[in-house]
Amino acid sequence: MKKKIHKLLIANRGEIALRLIRACKELGIISVVVHSEADKDGVWVKKADQSIEMKGHPVQVYLDYENIIVVAKQHRCDAVHPGYGFLSENAEFAKACEKNGLTFVGPKAEHIALFGDKIASKEKMKEIGVPVIEGTTTPVYDVQEAMEVAQRIGYPVIIKAAYGGGGRGMRIVESEEGFASAFENARAEAEKYFGNGDLFVEKYIRNPRHIEVQIIADKYGNVVHLGERDCSIQRRHQKVIEISPSPRLNQETRKELFRIAQKAIYKLGYESVGTIEFLVDEDDEIYFIEMNTRIQVEHPVTEITTGVDLIQRMIQIAEGDKLQFLQEEISFRGYAIEFRINAEDPQKEFMPSFGTIGEYLTPGGPGVRLDSGIYSGYTIPPHYDSMVAKLIVWALDWEGVIKKAQRALDEYYIDGIKTNIALHKAVLGNEEFQKGCFTTNFLNTMTEDFA
Ligand code: ADP
Repeated sequence: MKKKIHKLLIANRGEIALRLIRACKELGIISVVVHSEADKDGVWVKKADQSIEMKGHPVQVYLDYENIIVVAKQHRCDAVHPGYGFLSENAEFAKACEKNGLTFVGPKAEHIALFGDKIASKEKMKEIGVPVIEGTTTPVYDVQEAMEVAQRIGYPVIIKAAYGGGGRGMRIVESEEGFASAFENARAEAEKYFGNGDLFVEKYIRNPRHIEVQIIADKYGNVVHLGERDCSIQRRHQKVIEISPSPRLNQETRKELFRIAQKAIYKLGYESVGTIEFLVDEDDEIYFIEMNTRIQVEHPVTEITTGVDLIQRMIQIAEGDKLQFLQEEISFRGYAIEFRINAEDPQKEFMPSFGTIGEYLTPGGPGVRLDSGIYSGYTIPPHYDSMVAKLIVWALDWEGVIKKAQRALDEYYIDGIKTNIALHKAVLGNEEFQKGCFTTNFLNTMTEDFA
C-alpha cells in the first residue's frame, strides 16, 4: 500500500504552487510545474525543479486534465497535486490519475464526487448524524415547488446551487415576493459558472459565524482534527480574513464541532486533509453547510497554531504513511490570522485591478508569514483569481495578534496595483472586531472608511 513519491506534478499556479514546491523541497521530492504561457514569469515557475509550458487558453490549460496526465507521464512524474480550485475537486481527474498509475494527492474520488454535490452530501451527512439546515432534499426545478418549500420552512430562505462554490449562485430571499426572480437569477448564475443549474432551498440563518474544522485522516482509519477556523469575515459570501482559533467560541460548542467532524470523517472512511464547514447561530446551534475535499486557501492559520505542515502530511498520507500523531499529541498555541491580499480596487466595488507591480516591500519579523506569488516588476495576468498573496500573522493572545497584524499590514507596500490592504486595516481598527464580536454580516455593516 506504500508508494513513495519521487517526482510530483503541480497542477496549479500562484502562491499555492509555490507552497507545494516548498513542501516538495523539504521532503526531497522533485517538483514539476505545468503552466500557461501567460504564467511564464510566475515566481513558482522559476522556483520549481522543472517547468513545462502548456499551449492554449490561459485558464483551460489548467483544466485540461487529459493533457496534464500526458505531461506527467512524459516527464516520469509519479504523483499529481491539484492545489485548490481548478482540478482539485474533480473526481474524474482523481480517477484518471490513478488509472494512469499516478498517485493523486488528495481524497478518494468517491468522496470528491459526493461532496461536489451539496444536496447529496447534505443528505449523507444527515444520515450519519451531522446536524444540517432544514431545506429541500433533492434538486428543485420548478419555482412553484420551491416556493412551497420556502413557505413550509419559513422565510428568510437561501437558494443555493447544488454544485456551487466561491459564493456564487446564492440568493437570500426575505419574503414570497422576491422569490421567483431570485430563483431564476440563481439558476442562470449556476448554469453559467458551474454548467449545472440544479438548485436547492434551505433556511437562511441570520447572523451566523462560519466555523470550519480542519481534519486530517490516513488510509488506516486514524482521524485527527486540527482545530477550527473562523471565516466569518466575508464579502459576497467569500472569505477575506480567516482566524484560528475563533476568538469568541465557547468551549462546549468548540468541542461539539470537533466531535461531530471527527465522527463524520471516521464514518465516511475519508482520507487526506479535508474541511467540514459549519454555521453556528446566535444560540450556538451548529449546522453543517458543506465539506471541502482539498487543501484550502486558509490552511496556514492551522499550520501555525498546531505546528503541523498540512501539505507535507497530505503528501505522506497519499504515499501510504500512517498519521504521525495522535489527537492527544496535538496542542494549540496562540492566535493566527490570515489576510487575503487581493488585487482589487476598493473604489470600484472591489473590481480586479491587474497590472505591473512597482515597488514591493514585504512585511517580516517575528510571527509573520507571507505566502505570495508576486514580486517587483511582475505583471499580474488578468485571466485568474485576484488573490495574489496571503499574509499570516501569529501571536500568543488575541490583542497581540491584532497589533501584530496592524504592524505587518503597515509594512506591506505594493505599488502599481490597487489592493484590499486598507480594508484589512479598517477591519482591525473596528471595535467590535477587536472584541471578537463578528458574524458573516460583519463586512456588510462595517462603516469604517477603507477606500
Ligand atoms: P460556497 O461553496 O459557494 O462557498 P457555502 O455553502 O460554503 O458556499 O456558503 C458560503 C457562505 O454563504 C457561508 O459561509 C455563509 O456566509 C453563507 N451561507 C451559506 N448558506 C447559508 C445559510 N443557510 N444561512 C446563512 N448563510 C449562509
